[in-house]
Amino acid sequence: MNDNCIFCKIVNKDIETEFVYEDDDIVVFKDINSQAPIHLLFIPKKHIETLNDISDEDSVLLSKMLMKIRDVAKSRGIAEDGYRVVVNCNRNAGQEVFHLHAHLLGGRGFSWPPG
Ligand code: 5GP
Ligand code: ZN
Repeated sequence: MNDNCIFCKIVNKDIETEFVYEDDDIVVFKDINSQAPIHLLFIPKKHIETLNDISDEDSVLLSKMLMKIRDVAKSRGIAEDGYRVVVNCNRNAGQEVFHLHAHLLGGRGFSWPPG
């Protein structure tokens, strides 16, 4: 728990947020500023600031996050058409919240290369 972190506050339920999914390790909720018909955030409960800060001890946690993305994409009906998973890291990627999170975006087409 980091007292200044908005996602830690969401995990802690200090900020009321409807969870799509929660278990002992991860939480899934809708992005407040949705960029696609489906735009969900997958976050570890553990405060990890960026992808640069993951360590070997996080490997099971990160695997669980990816598996949950797979499951939710399937249950939301976007697995076959396809979807995009984004992890922004630091300034050049435009990371705004420094608590590791993966965006799951789906329900429309996405261009490549990204902007
Ligand atoms: P980043 O640019 O760091 O990868 O993305 C942070 C994301 O968190 C943004 O898409 C933003 O809309 C979302 N976000 C920021 N604050 C909140 C919040 O309080 N609640 C929710 N549900 N999403 C948030
Ligand atoms: Zn945090």
